[in-house]
Amino acid sequence: MTSDKVALLFDIDGTLIITDGAGATSWKLAFMDLYGIPADIDKYSDTGMTDPEVARRTFTALLGHNPSPGEFSRLLERRMHFLGQAVDEADGYHVLPGVEALLPKLIHQGYLLGLVTGNLEAAAHIKLARARLNRFFAFGGYGSDSPDRVALTQVAMQRAAMVAGEPIAAEKFLSFGDTPNDVIAAHQAGIECVGVASHKYSVTELRDAGADWVLGSLEEPLPLSP
Ligand SMILES: [Mg+2]
Repeated sequence: MTSDKVALLFDIDGTLIITDGAGATSWKLAFMDLYGIPADIDKYSDTGMTDPEVARRTFTALLGHNPSPGEFSRLLERRMHFLGQAVDEADGYHVLPGVEALLPKLIHQGYLLGLVTGNLEAAAHIKLARARLNRFFAFGGYGSDSPDRVALTQVAMQRAAMVAGEPIAAEKFLSFGDTPNDVIAAHQAGIECVGVASHKYSVTELRDAGADWVLGSLEEPLPLSP
């Protein structure tokens, strides 16, 4: 149990919401539109990777060379173009258990909430908009800040201090994520992490990754003092 946290950082996919493949669908449509190739990003990337990593790896595997800045720019635009439609049309899109009750409660309790996600900033907001969850998050670190999850976590921490108007020590942050990558990145950024086993990784896997606490879902009590 921890009593002195100020800012809470949330991963999006698998922690707050499930977009039911909308991300992969939008990449497929983007590669189809630009190159006539129905790209399957799952072959070239893993959950927890940032959008720039996914884009670069998939592009290089399919096209046989690293994307030029122009090719990369066009790919990211096409992907975000198709993402809104893919999110709207995803039958299985849903908010994960506990989230819709938890976020307003945490705001009421006075925590500053932020996002830590491999999504490009606009993609993160597109994904959260369908569930009207953007309003809870005053700042974030995104895949568009760095392809590296540790670095984008550090960006989120700097932005939290800007929003708060005062420095926030690393031990005042608590991160929530659903993958071992989330846990490892939080720790490398110097902050504690709650593993949430609400998607592909189990309680045991998140514990083995070193999570400071592990929850089955965000319906369970958080390790914060009431
Ligand atoms: Mg995730």
